[in-house]
Amino acid sequence: MSEMIHLVCPSCHGVNRIPAARLGDSPNCGKCRSSLTDSSPVEVSAADFNKFVQRSDMPLLVDFWAPWCGPCKMMAPMFEAAAAQLAPSVRLLKVNTEENQQLGAQLGIRSIPTLALFKGGREVARQPGAMESAQIVAWTRQNLAR
Ligand SMILES: [Zn+2]
Repeated sequence: MSEMIHLVCPSCHGVNRIPAARLGDSPNCGKCRSSLTDSSPVEVSAADFNKFVQRSDMPLLVDFWAPWCGPCKMMAPMFEAAAAQLAPSVRLLKVNTEENQQLGAQLGIRSIPTLALFKGGREVARQPGAMESAQIVAWTRQNLAR
């Protein structure tokens, strides 16, 4: 019997339950049919962020950014490249701290860009400052392996 895991759909944010063994078979959302393991980072609101943290069994790598932040813009393509390497075992999210100031304050995000890694409903690592894609991948894998 295969272990079942919960995935939050990156498109409609519906919660899907699938066998862990099927993760590599590009499973689709039961509601909207979008790919559940598409690697593109997902821009989320505070409410969606909380849903992913609470309901997703996938580790989450979150980029806290803002439109006025130069280093954030420079890191965006690096983050996307890292997403392609980390999928399907890690879901990458982006939180615009300008639009979600309360969430940023609640989490104590003091500078941007900041990357934070969530696993099992809690934060396991945080790293302020821009990183290259190889660094993002290495940092994520290292912190998930602990
Ligand atoms: Zn969906």
